[in-house]
Amino acid sequence: SKTAYIRTKPHLNIGTMGHVDHGKTTLTAAITKVLSERGTGSSTQYVSFDRIDRAPEEAQRGITINIAHVEYETDTRHYAHVDMPGHADYIKNMVTGAAQLDGAILVVSALDGIMPQTAEHVLLARQVGVDHIVVALNKADAGDEELTDLVELEVRELLSAHGYGGDSVPVVRVSGLKALEGDPRWAAAIEALLDAVDTYVPMPERYVDAPFLLSVENVLTITGRGTVVTGAVERGQVRIGDRVEVLGAETETVVTGLETFGKPMESAQAGDNVALLLRGVPRDAVRRGHVVAEPGSVSPSRRFTAQVYVLSTKEGGRSTPIATGYRPQFYLRTADVVGDVDLGDAAVARPGDTVTMTVELGRDMPLETGLGFAIREGGRTVGAGTVTEVR
Ligand code: GDP
Ligand code: MG
Repeated sequence: SKTAYIRTKPHLNIGTMGHVDHGKTTLTAAITKVLSERGTGSSTQYVSFDRIDRAPEEAQRGITINIAHVEYETDTRHYAHVDMPGHADYIKNMVTGAAQLDGAILVVSALDGIMPQTAEHVLLARQVGVDHIVVALNKADAGDEELTDLVELEVRELLSAHGYGGDSVPVVRVSGLKALEGDPRWAAAIEALLDAVDTYVPMPERYVDAPFLLSVENVLTITGRGTVVTGAVERGQVRIGDRVEVLGAETETVVTGLETFGKPMESAQAGDNVALLLRGVPRDAVRRGHVVAEPGSVSPSRRFTAQVYVLSTKEGGRSTPIATGYRPQFYLRTADVVGDVDLGDAAVARPGDTVTMTVELGRDMPLETGLGFAIREGGRTVGAGTVTEVR
């Protein structure tokens, strides 16, 4: 039988961000390799580049979810790490909260410097409340030292411009590729990067005493056992045998199995990435975006007021203003729902503006003050906001 997950260290969720081809996936594989080779006491399993890059795609309700989770352990912490292949995957998974990042590793190629997606991911991280970023200045094996110094300055400036305190952010020069090839110098650089993550990214506050809530990221069927939903526990705790409510499916059931990274566990808590086996729930009844919660703990609604930042054209947003009557998609937690925008007295909102709007969603959702969301239209993000009042 499978070994149970034993919680011996605090658990954090992190991930790589950055422009395509700057080496996010290579670095992710290198981290698992270096940690797996630490010798006795290391519980980390090496995950190869191919296994990360070819994470299965799950298409549900027209959204392709493409997200690879790997896990590893340093001396002091257990990490779940997400890596995503394309820019659109970052938008979907970060903004919707599927990738609940407590901190991020921004990967910047020392050869190329800041590229458009580097800047967009920093902006995105700020919008979704990622408060701590560590920089991996990658491809340092191939870079010229003076040029790398310039890239470092440029990255620090970018971070400062987004409120990340660029002067104090750790910037570590690494080579994911050389570390993956077993070069000891570059393996040491990966260790230095992990030390920076361990020390610079604080343990976030976990609302373990709040009622349980998990937004469904994925739904799978285990033949003979039933329907499994996966996602990150947003708050509270859940144990095998607990009654839960599935909002969206409007059904109540019992959790009959609980796993994290394929290991069975007795109880899960806020911050954990888990799979829940739900008794007697047909697979078709549950979808990405539904919410599993302690029965009666949330009352869904569809109207809210929000503070919204309309992305500028330069940030990939619209080139024309929005007005009352606008009907884009709202990405809340792992759900995407159409919504009607009412701008009230402010007749229009231009790209680059921050505005207050009232939104009427196409269906009821568990909403609460402080909940972040993205506004998307025709496959791109045009706004990012926070719920200020549920109506
Ligand atoms: P991603 O799109 O950010 O995930 O980038 P990948 O990890 O797929 O890497 C893109 C390309 O850069 C591949 O050809 C890698 O072999 C190469 N690469 C990644 N890391 C390094 C590095 O540290 N040094 C060098 N020289 N090349 C690298
Ligand atoms: Mg990649």
